[in-house]
Amino acid sequence: MKIRSPIVSVLGHVDHGKTTLLDYIRGSTIADKEAGGITQHIGATEIPNDTIEEICGNFISRLTIKDLIPGLFFIDTPGHAAFTSLRKRGGALADLAILIVDINDGFKPQTYEALNILKMYKTPFIVVANKIDRIFGWETHEGASFSESFNQQAQSVKQELDLKLYELVGTLHKEGFQSERFDRVSNFASQISIIPISARSGEGIIEVLAMLLGLAQEYLTEQLEINEDAPAKGTILEIKEEVGLGLTVDSIIYDGVLRTNDEIALINSSNEVVTTKIRSILRPLPLEEMRDSKKKFRKLDEVVAAAGIKIAAPNLDDVVSGSPLRVLSEEEDVEEQLLKEIEDITINTEDE
Ligand code: GDP
Repeated sequence: MKIRSPIVSVLGHVDHGKTTLLDYIRGSTIADKEAGGITQHIGATEIPNDTIEEICGNFISRLTIKDLIPGLFFIDTPGHAAFTSLRKRGGALADLAILIVDINDGFKPQTYEALNILKMYKTPFIVVANKIDRIFGWETHEGASFSESFNQQAQSVKQELDLKLYELVGTLHKEGFQSERFDRVSNFASQISIIPISARSGEGIIEVLAMLLGLAQEYLTEQLEINEDAPAKGTILEIKEEVGLGLTVDSIIYDGVLRTNDEIALINSSNEVVTTKIRSILRPLPLEEMRDSKKKFRKLDEVVAAAGIKIAAPNLDDVVSGSPLRVLSEEEDVEEQLLKEIEDITINTEDE
């Protein structure tokens, strides 16, 4: 048994800052490359624990999980379609979620929609109240923790922030969630943490990373246990034509091991099972190598979850995004399991 990184998805209303947040997290850790760096997957970015520890310092010193899990695995495509169509074990393909809300704008239709998705899948999540730098009078402290920056603000600014924050608390309450500013939470099991941040200046990102690790420790250690020798389970993100490779599928593997020449089962647009044999498993080349070569990908013999990879194989024409992926095995009737799995899907194709 091995513990894999929790898969994290970012949800929220359009323009509330999903992309900016993901970019900041990727950027700030790329700058820390020497400290362990990040692994660029297909469709995802993995931030190793060493890097998170380096960024978060004391914020996570009390967590025990940081020595257990390898890191945080962020799905690159934000949004509800990506979340709901990416499923696993009857839930969505995300172990944890960040619900992002523009603190100046409050809850909007897609924020409610996201909250309902999280409710339905019982996904543990944190709320981030974004764009605090736009609160009147806010003095920006690039990359600082929220607490550090907040302490240096004028009294009126602090009050304004809390006023807006408690509007979010009120809205969440109406939706059936107890919540509180993260540093005032007394019971993490019953209260949702709200972390004020600026995805643009990076203020509060330290607390976001630390809190995600905390949630993983609280709720997920069992869910994250994987069997490194078991046939892989995954989800298809996208079907793409690649020069020289033909049709490929980008997928997230959340359990087991996937090997070249494995026979896999997928679902097509008529909800039928399609089987094919993996010709190659591909990962993006690290940026510096990509500059020196025309190639974009590196071939791998095998990958262990969690991983984001591209698969080249025949017979992919009619495969749909959101399809589950299973390696065929002699012990299990994988085809039947797949059909059962998609029978349960109700909302996977509702695009944003
Ligand atoms: P998405 O649609 O949720 O992915 O939102 P984006 O990340 O594209 O952000 C929408 C707009 O808000 C962009 O112009 C961002 O630069 C801006 N934005 C995002 N986060 C912040 C923030 O923390 N502060 C400020 N001032 N602007 C932000």
